[in-house]
Amino acid sequence: MVDQACTSELIACQQCDALYKQPCLNEGQKAECGRCGATLFERKNNSIERTFSLSIAGLLFLTPAIILPIIGVTLAGQFHNASLLDCITQLIGKGFYMIAILVFMFAIAVPTVRLIGALYISYCFKFNKIKPFLLHFFRAYHQLDSWSMLNVFLLAIIVSMYKLLDDTELSVDYGLLAFVLLLLCSTLVSVTLDQDYVWQTLEKECLDENS
Ligand SMILES: [Zn+2]
Repeated sequence: MVDQACTSELIACQQCDALYKQPCLNEGQKAECGRCGATLFERKNNSIERTFSLSIAGLLFLTPAIILPIIGVTLAGQFHNASLLDCITQLIGKGFYMIAILVFMFAIAVPTVRLIGALYISYCFKFNKIKPFLLHFFRAYHQLDSWSMLNVFLLAIIVSMYKLLDDTELSVDYGLLAFVLLLLCSTLVSVTLDQDYVWQTLEKECLDENS
């Protein structure tokens, strides 16, 4: 593990703009603004280990989420079920290319890229393999973080689908469970990854090397 990062730079309270010298905190500690009480800075517990484990768990759910049936419908006495992959191939087959691309992007590509990114970052920190390239990589990963709200949106759709189960002959399958767990892991990595700690360490390790 890398030693705790600490700089003498000033940080501003996000709520009231009061300026403070950046504190050196241990894991699990947080600094609060003396003026308004908002959290200025927080060091999360076991951030790297938890992110590493969650991203591996999320990637393990990827294959079942894509190939197992996610939903079944009984129509005219006949039962049909489909996996996420079936849905995408059906959409392509019927000429709905744009919708197929959107489903692929938002249901598979974005969560997967975020999990792989989190796995790579936590792997480099866990095994002390920090290289200058990682700073650029983390900047790109940070851009993807804004897509994390999309997972919440997808989870909301799944919850509403579950509500429909009472009224229709709809059944959920193991694929949907794997898909929910995949989205959950993809959302949780942004909660467990201590971005302040990663930024500070990368700035210290990579920028010092360049200067
Ligand atoms: Zn404040």
